[in-house]
Amino acid sequence: MKLYTGERLAELAGARGLSDDYLRELRIVSAVLPFRVNDYVERELIDWSAAPDDPIFRLTFPHRDMLPPDVFSGVAELYDAGATREVLAKAGAQARRLLNPHPGGQIEANVPVLRGKPVLGLQHKYRETVLVFPSQGQTCHAYCGYCFRWAQFVGSETRQALSDPATMVAYLRAHPEVTDVLFTGGDPLIMKTAVLRRWVEPISEPGLNHIRTLRFGTKALSYWPARFIEDDDADDLLRLFEQCADTGRHVAVMAHFSHPQELSTPAVRQAISRIRSTGAVIRAQAPLVAHVNDDARVWADMWQQLVGLGVIPYYMFVERDTGARNYFEVPLARAHDIYTDAIRSVSGLARSARGPVMSAHPGKVLIDGIITVMGVKVFALRLLQARNPADVGRQFLARYDPTARWFDELTPALGTHFPGAAVEY
Ligand SMILES: *Cc1c(COP(=O)(O)O)cnc(C)c1O
Repeated sequence: MKLYTGERLAELAGARGLSDDYLRELRIVSAVLPFRVNDYVERELIDWSAAPDDPIFRLTFPHRDMLPPDVFSGVAELYDAGATREVLAKAGAQARRLLNPHPGGQIEANVPVLRGKPVLGLQHKYRETVLVFPSQGQTCHAYCGYCFRWAQFVGSETRQALSDPATMVAYLRAHPEVTDVLFTGGDPLIMKTAVLRRWVEPISEPGLNHIRTLRFGTKALSYWPARFIEDDDADDLLRLFEQCADTGRHVAVMAHFSHPQELSTPAVRQAISRIRSTGAVIRAQAPLVAHVNDDARVWADMWQQLVGLGVIPYYMFVERDTGARNYFEVPLARAHDIYTDAIRSVSGLARSARGPVMSAHPGKVLIDGIITVMGVKVFALRLLQARNPADVGRQFLARYDPTARWFDELTPALGTHFPGAAVEY
């Protein structure tokens, strides 16, 4: 795999005909936020004749509006004055702290405790499911500009990672209420199969029979389908899925598809088919983001193609309040309209996609509708997941606001309250 980051990303964009003005912006923004593209993405997914408006280009390449204007102009001033790489890197690190690197209370509220010590590298927010961040899996085959885990890619001060599967095993043994383990990152499939195996196999040990589902959150199907076809250890990865499935567990590849263009290559289709032949189930999710997929037809087309390929549409997320949110955000009201229009134009099988969903502090909040109650227009909301299991499924109302972009901008409507008592694991 050929990777383009930093100056090589600028060279690539220059060679593909992007303007010098753009290359300046690329260098300024990438001093703050992480970017990475590989040769598959640049060769097979980006339509360079449509760049910079091509959706996959927008998804993976910097844009000046990804930074708040004052942050951009601060770094631009240094860059234009010929600042050294060290000075720019320092300014970038400072700017990152302004960009809410750990949204949703991920560090304060989701990090569990084992034998009195916090375990950085596990998250346990919802009773049934533990997230595992293996330290060898904290990067990706390419980066999405909106990634809410971007802080994982920019140095140790903000990184959550676990280096030892034994800690995971000890935590899971102590928590019989957990049924699902979700390997995430970064991207766990960036790990060699032999390394992934060291994380996955211990879950078949005695005493962990309560773990019924293994999930792998990954962008590899979109950004590097060779992982499942022709990488040295591709066959071994499929064997690992098969072995997990043979233990009677559900194996779920939680794929990340943002645009139908990612489904257009023979490689991705072959990869999907190979994964399905192992007994693993592929579910697809992604955030709704401006400049990439903020169009009901794009989602309807993508869901229909996914269903045709045997992939189950799962969540349509709201872009989170972190990193490059400036550029990618879509107001909740508009997100609801896009979701609803898309759902109306597909059959029931594609309506397994739920959304738009915010992964917010109290839980996964679904924008279930925009309704008028006794003459007052409100958002009807529902908790699909909640810190407190008793809150799951709870419906509640927020004042309608066509500009609101995130949960913290909503206020209760009609004298009601928001649910959400805290539970710590
Ligand atoms: C989304 C999420 C999960 C998984 O939720 P499901 O609804 O079961 O897919 C688990 N933990 C965290 C922290 C999450 O954000």
